[in-house]
Amino acid sequence: MSTAGTASGGAKAGGGAPSADAPQTVSLYERWKRIHPLWVSGGWQTWRRVVLVVLLLVFYASPWLRWNGEPGVLFDLEHRRFTIFWTTFVPEEFVLLAWLLLIAALTLFTVTIAAGRVFCGWACPQTVWTLVYFSIERFIEGDRNARLRAEKNGWTRSRLARKALKITIWAALALSISITFVGYFVPIRELLPRIATFDLGKWETIAILLPAAGSFVGSGVLREQVCFHMCPYARFQSVMFDRDSLIISYDVDRGEPRGKRRKDADPASLGLGSCVDCMKCVHVCPTGIDIRNGLQYQCIGCAACIDACTDVMGRMGYGESLVRYSSENRDQGVERHWLRPRLVGYATLILVLVGLFGWVVTHRVPMGLTIVRDRNRLYRVDWDGNVENVYTLRISNRADESHQYAIEVDSPLDLVYDGPSTVEVAGGALAAVPVRLDLLGGEGVVTEGVDVVFRIRRLGDEGRPVVVEDVSRFHVPKEAR
Ligand code: SF4
Ligand code: SF4
Repeated sequence: MSTAGTASGGAKAGGGAPSADAPQTVSLYERWKRIHPLWVSGGWQTWRRVVLVVLLLVFYASPWLRWNGEPGVLFDLEHRRFTIFWTTFVPEEFVLLAWLLLIAALTLFTVTIAAGRVFCGWACPQTVWTLVYFSIERFIEGDRNARLRAEKNGWTRSRLARKALKITIWAALALSISITFVGYFVPIRELLPRIATFDLGKWETIAILLPAAGSFVGSGVLREQVCFHMCPYARFQSVMFDRDSLIISYDVDRGEPRGKRRKDADPASLGLGSCVDCMKCVHVCPTGIDIRNGLQYQCIGCAACIDACTDVMGRMGYGESLVRYSSENRDQGVERHWLRPRLVGYATLILVLVGLFGWVVTHRVPMGLTIVRDRNRLYRVDWDGNVENVYTLRISNRADESHQYAIEVDSPLDLVYDGPSTVEVAGGALAAVPVRLDLLGGEGVVTEGVDVVFRIRRLGDEGRPVVVEDVSRFHVPKEAR
């Protein structure tokens, strides 16, 4: 079974059709062909590698950050406290984390509207790791031509040895990624010694091996297939594009008609454009597409083809690269608008959300109190006719350091408090404190029940008392009412 169609999915730069833009017939059951991209250097790739190194540093260093003994970043699932840049969020503040995710998503959308797939090509973890795996492969197996030659020659001893070495280094890399990843959820300074002494449980071992396998297969083996078939963002981001979004496009007007020629030949006299049809822009492409066929969803915006063509144009003395960062409007000679209503709207919304988030985080009360009544009984009457109500005070300490809290109770009845007068709660922790209120001789008291105010006061804050309170109900027997 086969299907016919052009590889092009979008605008033809400059409005004209490339001469070689003939429909391609592709079998639906075509075998996956390994792409062997050519290594390319150039201005954009230098910047891309700088960004890559910065991102790798951030990824590997973040779990190690500590200040005054507190972790900089730790998503501590076991103790249900998330720390981001030394700001700890307890479970009741998870709405703030959702808020952060919303800001991150809106920022990604805004960047896509303005700069197209710049996230995919420059900062997506899949792209970054693929580049690292690919760099190792190139170092061991050689560049594109050497790898293609080796593939043609079959399984020689040298090829087997190189593959084995590559797989070993890839596996070590995958483990380093996975252990660091787990280090975002478990303190990495405790995790590493336990790994070194094989002191891990079954589930912990699985939690490390699974992401390692995912990284090895996803970024090492499948590479561009993950972008094509598994990444949902790659599919829906095109709806966010507008005619001024940054795209990578081929300058048809300058490039066509394409054709080979000698370096000293005059293209005009041969009736040719500037494209020498060297295929270098195709060979460097990590997704294996020909950008001269127009904008395609497989293009991740890595700019490798720009650097490749810059090199070719320079050698030929033809000026700038035929492939460039552009936009649909620019390709069609329409002036580019940087400030678009949608872009300004999104950017304003992000600024407002970030401002509000900062205000909420800096003004939040550093502790919380929730009263939970005993679910089994509203009250209990003892042998002496005293009425007892039981509560659990859930005290959350949102600060990073531990604190002592004094507990006070207010009620219109003369209730006797039975529980600790102070309690210590570790930084970012939640303490459940069971307490009891007694109404002595309360069996005969006629009342509908009364409100009881529980108040906790953080000790050591005399100059600026920090107090929170919560209200619950004190119940008495029905027959007494
Ligand atoms: S690298 Fe430039 S000159 Fe070579 S095929 Fe691509 S567009 Fe044409
Ligand atoms: S077409 Fe160019 S920018 Fe797009 S993925 Fe290929 S090399 Fe990268």
